[in-house]
Order: sequence, then structure tokens, then C-alpha cells
Amino acid sequence: MTVVSIKGSQEQISVGKILCIGQNYAEHAKEMQSAVSTSPVFFFKPSTAIIHQGEHIVLPAISNNVHHEVELTVLIGTGGKNIPRERAMQHVAGYGIGLDMTMRDIQTEAKKQGQPWALAKGFDTSAPISEFLPAAIVGDPSTLTVQLNVNGTLRQLSKTINLIFSVDVLIAYISQFITFERGDIIYTGTPEGVSAVTHGDQLEAALLNAVGNTIVSLSVSVK
Ligand code: MG
Repeated sequence: MTVVSIKGSQEQISVGKILCIGQNYAEHAKEMQSAVSTSPVFFFKPSTAIIHQGEHIVLPAISNNVHHEVELTVLIGTGGKNIPRERAMQHVAGYGIGLDMTMRDIQTEAKKQGQPWALAKGFDTSAPISEFLPAAIVGDPSTLTVQLNVNGTLRQLSKTINLIFSVDVLIAYISQFITFERGDIIYTGTPEGVSAVTHGDQLEAALLNAVGNTIVSLSVSVK
């Protein structure tokens, strides 16, 4: 069983579904040469893909191009179906920072063949994730900044105000089709700046508040 925790709480929350949003920042869609969709595009990762602070990303031998994608993550605290946008935030337990590790070469080939992204996105260790900060402490999730340094060099930096589909919109949209349960996690999509990692790389991801202070961080290395 994979678990996550909320800062300041002893509770170990069992992870359910991991829903990941594709192309939710215009600048990233541009760098992927993709058109921005009129409704959110999402896919799943298995909970077994999760690794925590201090653990290692293991690069699968079938890929020569594993990319980092830093993302705001949302932990669902209260489940529901057909959740209205106005009530969506009441279903959030906390916010964290995560990495949607992607075998870009495998994904590109899958796109070309019209095949699913499950392998490219769902392999073991493809979902490094931080602990979560309580939603009440974070406040408005559109005031945050996501940041990723690799070996001390800034690779990705964007404000969550740039999300095409905001957290409340995502919850309302997805819950029309898929019931949320406590312990589900949403990876909200990555900004521009994705690039390859290699053996020995040190990844430092952070979620910053409106005044630029780190409120939660995650460091993992590539084995
Ligand atoms: Mg992503």
C-alpha cells in the first residue's frame, strides 16, 4: 500500500487514483508543439509509481530520454461525484509538489501510433511526491509558484496562475465522469522547461507561496 502524509498530521493516507493533467500551461503546450485542448486532458499513473523524499528515480532501460515535469499536486480529502466548481475546494485536503517523470521517447512513439501513455508515464518511480501542506494553510492555490532545480540549476519555474484549467475547474470537470475518493491525487500539469535527466542527477522541487517562500519541497536523485 502506498501512503502519503499531511504536514502536522500523523495520519498515513492510502493513495488511490493518480490523475495527471496534460498540457495545462500554454508555454509547455507550445514547447511540445501541441494545440491547447478546450477541455482538460488527463491520464493515470498507478499508485505504485510513487516515491518519496530522498528516494531514487530508476531510469528504465527501454528509454534514452526520461524528462522531468514539475507539478503542483492536489490531495483529495473528501470524495465526491459531480462536484460543482463552487464547492470543489472543500474536497481538497492539501497541496504538494510532484514530478511527473516521463519517458519522452516512448510517449512520442505512443502518440504517433495512437497508443496509450501508460508505460511512458506510469513506470515504477515515475511519481516522486512531497508531503502535503493542509489546504487551509495554503489558501488560494492560484497564488503559488512551482520550481525545479537540477544539480543546482533552475530548470522550471512558473506561477500557478498560469494554469489553463485551475484546480477547482479540474475537480469539477473530472468528477462528472470519475468519482473522487479520499487519497486520490491530481498532478495538475507542468510548465515549460521540461528536459532530460541522467544518472546521478539531483532534483530539488519546491512549491512557493505568494511572497516567494518555499512552503513544501522535495528532493530525489536519479539512480
Ligand atoms: Mg505532466
